[in-house]
Amino acid sequence: MAELKLRFQSHHLPLAHTFTLAHSSRTHTPISFVQLQWGDYVGYGEAAMPPYLGESAQTAESFFSSLDFSWVSEPSDVEKVLGYVQSHSPGNPAAKAAIDIALHDLHAKRLGVPVYQLFGLNPGDAPQSSYTIGIHPLEVVHSLLPNTDPFGLIKVKLGGDHDRDTIDLIRNYTDKPISVDVNQGWTQKEEALDEIYWLKERGIVYVEQPMPKETTKDMEWLSQHSPLPTIADEAVQRLSDLFELKNRFHGVNIKLMKCTGIREGYLMAKVAKSLGLKVMIGCMTESSCGIAAAAQLAPLADWVDLDGHFLLAEDPFEGLGFEDGVVQLSQQNGLGVFPKHLSWADQ
Ligand code: MG
Repeated sequence: MAELKLRFQSHHLPLAHTFTLAHSSRTHTPISFVQLQWGDYVGYGEAAMPPYLGESAQTAESFFSSLDFSWVSEPSDVEKVLGYVQSHSPGNPAAKAAIDIALHDLHAKRLGVPVYQLFGLNPGDAPQSSYTIGIHPLEVVHSLLPNTDPFGLIKVKLGGDHDRDTIDLIRNYTDKPISVDVNQGWTQKEEALDEIYWLKERGIVYVEQPMPKETTKDMEWLSQHSPLPTIADEAVQRLSDLFELKNRFHGVNIKLMKCTGIREGYLMAKVAKSLGLKVMIGCMTESSCGIAAAAQLAPLADWVDLDGHFLLAEDPFEGLGFEDGVVQLSQQNGLGVFPKHLSWADQ
């Protein structure tokens, strides 16, 4: 009789450029890959764990090691398997996402369909993805500008000491739409509103997480007065967060690594829409395995920010395309991506 077999491995993947946000800077990122096998079928998943979110290769591996799938008699019972994973221990959202992604890959491959078909979605409806420029000295921003050429939307990290010069530099280079992500970097609501009015005049389309997630009243005030849509990122993780956010932001950035994977990400997008919130599908710095998983849900999004695999020095997975500014899924069953040279020893 077949058994659901889990294998995993962790890497410290180098980034193509040092990545600087309002509160941190790094050159590598920890990623754990998982493989779920059932008979001849194999599904792949990924946990990407930026250090500020509290998970690590060690916490992910200890979570994976503690799982026992010996009771699983049919992995197409996705609800039951993921229900077990959810209730197994609290936290560990990225590690849980890795299992969720691998299980959807496995399930769809066994059915002979791409994952998006499990959710009744058409990848032709996916919006263009943005390309992210971090906080850098202006000469570095200048050198990165040609990287934005294939993209239809540029996302700029703000909260540094030369935000307006950065926006002016990019605006002089292109008239493409620009979005900004402040990563909680503004602390005074009136100054934040001034900044948003300044940004609106320069063709900015939305402002992500302008203020610290704890500033609930100030954030509500800012969203009421803001001429641009405000999008929650750090302030939202799981489905249950959406209900109290709906008066504080105009939209939410859904990331599989925060919300435990495709299944909850799908529900979040549906519920957010029903609450009148805009939907953004985002990512961490991750390989095209995690990006392919998020891209399955991109048809539900108003904005897509799936450029994490372009930020790696080398992508361990292949199969994902990029055309006309849109992350393109292959026609293959499952996620449509495959490891290039990862070997999987039995554990
Ligand atoms: Mg963000």
